[in-house]
Amino acid sequence: MSAPTTTISSLPYELLVAIAVAGQEDRVAESNWEIRTTTFKSEWTLSQLSHRFRDVIVGAPALWTLIETDFISEGSVEILNLYLERSRASKLSIMLCQQWSSRAVGERLLLTGTNHIVPHVHRIQRLRILLEKRWAWDMLALFRDEAAPHLQHLEIVCATLDETPLVMFSSGVPRLDFLKIDGFILQSPAAAFALTHLELRKDWCIDPAYPTLNQYAALTAQCPLLEYLQLDVNWVPEEAPRFLIPTLKYLRISIPGEDADYLLAVVGIFDAPALTELIFDGTHGDQIAFLLGRKTLPHSIFPALTSLTFLLRDSCGCESANENLPSHTISSPPAIFPALSRLTLINQCFTEHLIQDMLGPASHPWPLLKTITLGAVDDSFEKVGAAVEDPMDSKRQRGEPVPEVQLLQLLSRENWSENGPYAERSCSLGKLSSPVSHRT
Ligand SMILES: [Zn+2]
Repeated sequence: MSAPTTTISSLPYELLVAIAVAGQEDRVAESNWEIRTTTFKSEWTLSQLSHRFRDVIVGAPALWTLIETDFISEGSVEILNLYLERSRASKLSIMLCQQWSSRAVGERLLLTGTNHIVPHVHRIQRLRILLEKRWAWDMLALFRDEAAPHLQHLEIVCATLDETPLVMFSSGVPRLDFLKIDGFILQSPAAAFALTHLELRKDWCIDPAYPTLNQYAALTAQCPLLEYLQLDVNWVPEEAPRFLIPTLKYLRISIPGEDADYLLAVVGIFDAPALTELIFDGTHGDQIAFLLGRKTLPHSIFPALTSLTFLLRDSCGCESANENLPSHTISSPPAIFPALSRLTLINQCFTEHLIQDMLGPASHPWPLLKTITLGAVDDSFEKVGAAVEDPMDSKRQRGEPVPEVQLLQLLSRENWSENGPYAERSCSLGKLSSPVSHRT
């Protein structure tokens, strides 16, 4: 008796749908702005193979819920409508891109927003919008009075708008968990109470950011569940607002090039006793020494902080000009971060000096420190590696516990992603190149 043969055309309904779903999985998790053409979408490809496949795939609303539209493409609105129709009442994930400011593209964007997106806003779960300046204001204003009862993830990136805060979803977004806003200020959506993840970027702002910092503080004050916060802090005025966030676990702050005490001023505005991980983007060696040498802070305490990272995306001329040589001695362990066990210095000037300060013969024992990760680019890689060996040997000779040191050779800067070698929290060091040598 011969075994029954299975061909792709005789696959059961459930299996066919499962194949299409599997083809969509990575699209759900993606955080870039690449729009896939229909050719690379499993639901689209499978629905074109045969009549039976078409009936099965088109008849499964859950397969038509991932909508990606680039308004520059002809036919993009028709495809969007097809997805809206086939998804029936299912919850939607929508990504809209408009990066080119011709009048025709802008008008298509507004018309689509008005006629097709807003009427479905009640079933949108995830909304990502990338906009060029000229049409952004009008597009986002379409959502001003709306309620989005199922919206969990909202991400909007705009080229420069102005300083006036925008109002969106004033009728409520009760399930909003993830909010990322880049390029403008969003007036706190009515009921931001469920937010656990908040990213507020404003890289382009060159004016003193005092009102901005106040607006940031006002927004975070409405988020009693906040665990993740990412901010650009471009200026800290004397009367700066304070960020009291008892639930915060992860904080990432970008700073501009500033004086040695700037980093301390930034840390001073946060009161986050549950914070476990802190990342600074844009720091220099003198700022690090100044911060870690402090005995107290005026208000803040960070008793739970175990991981501290300093990162610079650009090159700096501090070492070659012999400027800003750190003159403050790091107290080990740092008094303001008593639980610190993992320290990471990525592309920081004066790394050797800092290491000598922390681990050298004059340093105090620091038994809690378990890991030091040092990342250096090109020619400074060997130099940083060599600088670690002596202090580590002297620690061993004194019979003191020695931390594990990871030395990472970074990709050349031109190959870094938008966020530097750390793409996102979850990527950790994944963006770094090998070889990675361990010197312990
Ligand atoms: Zn520097």
